[in-house]
Amino acid sequence: MSALFNTYARRPIALVEGKGTIVKDQNGKEYLDFTSGIAVLSLGHAHPELVKALREQSEKIWHTSNLFQAPWQEKLAESLVKDTHFSYAFFCNSGAEANEAAIKLARKHTGKHHIITFKQSFHGRTFGSMSATGQEKIQKGFGPMLEKFTYLPFNDVDALRNAVDDSVAAIMLEVIQGEGGVNPVTDEFAEAIQEICSQSDILLIVDEVQTGIGRTGSRFAFEQTPLKPDIISLAKGLGGGFPIAAILGTKELYDTFGPGSHGTTFGGNPLGVAVAQKVIDIVFQPEFLNEVKKKSEYFIDKLKEAFPDGEFKVKGKGLLLGLESENEVGEYIGKLEEAGLLVCPAGTKVLRLLPPLTVKYEEIDDAVAILKKVLSRK
Ligand SMILES: *Cc1c(COP(=O)(O)O)cnc(C)c1O
Repeated sequence: MSALFNTYARRPIALVEGKGTIVKDQNGKEYLDFTSGIAVLSLGHAHPELVKALREQSEKIWHTSNLFQAPWQEKLAESLVKDTHFSYAFFCNSGAEANEAAIKLARKHTGKHHIITFKQSFHGRTFGSMSATGQEKIQKGFGPMLEKFTYLPFNDVDALRNAVDDSVAAIMLEVIQGEGGVNPVTDEFAEAIQEICSQSDILLIVDEVQTGIGRTGSRFAFEQTPLKPDIISLAKGLGGGFPIAAILGTKELYDTFGPGSHGTTFGGNPLGVAVAQKVIDIVFQPEFLNEVKKKSEYFIDKLKEAFPDGEFKVKGKGLLLGLESENEVGEYIGKLEEAGLLVCPAGTKVLRLLPPLTVKYEEIDDAVAILKKVLSRK
């Protein structure tokens, strides 16, 4: 019995301690954590520099609200937009909230309301972000959604060209649909979206809540595509385990949110910003990102070696990878857990592999050995 609302189908274990990629449950059993708290722990559990940043900040000041100057936010914003085509950041607390900010900004800036999103997308659980999400199961039972969202088939250029008209304020997508099954955008589709947005006043919003902050081997996943978004949303990996989120936007959007038009009490809280600053200082180093790419190639090769008959297909990019089956994969989650490997589902037929970006090569080997043993039917 529990006094918690029944909102999650939780695994039967409680993780009580972690270091790097390794976590321990309440009975002292160890696991390789290839969930990273759903792509959150970019630097693994209890990274010493993050622990230090949080401890030091916690002894100075915890919270000031946005009634006062926030030099720490200005510094983090600078670090996030440096060497990008973005100029400004707004800080908030979760992915859904970042997407709310993006949707509000796009509507207010264009004066239009219609937003195109895609089937199997996931943008969050608040009314705006849920309305943007192209999955009925997420919306079911909650009554009328926010108006003026259209859900198009993902990677379907013709459907997109047919749907675009003067009423469209923005197109919103994930570069790799994370929750929806690790589905990457195709180059052809990304080119078509970019062409449409460049030739009209339609804004492009890229939801980088899961793909951002080094997860795919670049600072942001859009950097490896033809997309040049006006707004991106960030959350999961940004705080390395501390709740913080953001949107980044171009300079043209500066005047749209004036004082009083959007805000949040906790957004840009000094504790979250102190940790996120350290995450960015580490993850945005080119050597670090190169290493993520190398680990990804290594991991993908090992997975292909382990499943040569294609009964599990490898998809995704960087360290946001999926093993896709033709059958439901739910039953494997518990079996892998028993064998000492934690992974997440994505949709019903994909096992999502999200190790910390700091995962070691030996840990990838160990994880692949467990996957091979548990998933091979021979
Ligand atoms: C997780 C996720 C969200 C929602 O983030 P929350 O912090 O849970 O609100 C939004 N978009 C994408 C792509 C996500 O993966």
